Amino acid sequence: MVRHDWTKEEILAIYNKPLMELMYEAATIHRKHHNPNQVQVSTLLSIKTGGCPEDCGYCPQAARYHTDIEGNDLMSVNQVKAQALRAKSSGSSRVCMGAAWRNVKDGEEFDQVLEMVRTINQLDMEVCCTLGMLTENQAQRLAEAGLYAYNHNLDSSEEYYKEVISTRGYEDRLKTLDNVRKTNVTVCSGGIIGMGEKIEDRAGMLVALTTLNPQPESVPINALVPVEGTPLEEQQPVSIWEMIRMIATTRIVMPETQVRLSAGRTQMSKEGQAMCFFAGANSIFAGDKLLTTPNPDVNEDMELFKELGLQPMKPFMKKDKPTSVPAEESTYQPMGEKPKWSRPGHSIERNEEAKLKAKLKKQEV
Ligand code: SF4
Repeated sequence: MVRHDWTKEEILAIYNKPLMELMYEAATIHRKHHNPNQVQVSTLLSIKTGGCPEDCGYCPQAARYHTDIEGNDLMSVNQVKAQALRAKSSGSSRVCMGAAWRNVKDGEEFDQVLEMVRTINQLDMEVCCTLGMLTENQAQRLAEAGLYAYNHNLDSSEEYYKEVISTRGYEDRLKTLDNVRKTNVTVCSGGIIGMGEKIEDRAGMLVALTTLNPQPESVPINALVPVEGTPLEEQQPVSIWEMIRMIATTRIVMPETQVRLSAGRTQMSKEGQAMCFFAGANSIFAGDKLLTTPNPDVNEDMELFKELGLQPMKPFMKKDKPTSVPAEESTYQPMGEKPKWSRPGHSIERNEEAKLKAKLKKQEV
């Protein structure tokens, strides 16, 4: 049974169980709801990199911090198609396209993204996008183009979110997820551990995700990869035990969801990753980069799959392929809305310090 009334205390009690008991319970639930030998493989493509106006403390793509990221404008549909074909031939069933935007704006660039969605849908792959906040109309247009999933992470608990990001509020995230839910597009939403949050914050994020009805079809659990120049550059990497606990707890409270072992895999041993799969992770990102941070090479992943007897999941195992309507037959037209997404604008000390450091570096050049 899927529950939507988990409390923080109940989730904390699960998270803090003796590890063997926690893993056994998670693995048992996993086997009831999923094939434990199948793992869904996604490829994450950064279709527009860098120059983002937001101040997410973990992100090297935020324009205000000084990082080594090379920015690029929106990729062409042909470039995306070529990359999607390459991903398909190496075992990916899903392509997730990420653009470093605060929110989607109607216009040429969004039309180009809709064309990318149509193109990948025609390759018989699941298409996911992560483009920032979006309105219901924009969600409908993506759905009509054949989008399978929309990613929009809650990142952490509502309380700790304020310690990481000041340029938008938690309620905007929830509003966007709600807009996606009004369409037939599935929801992908998760978070990051290792940003300096308390275990209570991890439980708080899971409460927010489990309360959603239906629960997200996909929940990525990322371990922070600290990047020089970002406000979180000095965070210590989380231990594998914390990652296993988080994966197992997510599996128990969201039994039907695909739990995605996401960023931070390069810091994990093969044995550690295997324990995450045992504890209920059934999805990974493939490719040597996760947007801008390092990720294991796809051959390494396939070797690990072989070693563990895992198979990459075929596309559309959980839900039918969405129909893709050509642009000229579209029912939903751009509305040119300018929604007022919030800008709390409170001061986060480490974000301000990183911004200042970037400014000084610029002056040195
Ligand atoms: S996480 Fe996304 S919204 Fe935040 S700064 Fe990076 S690209 Fe922008």
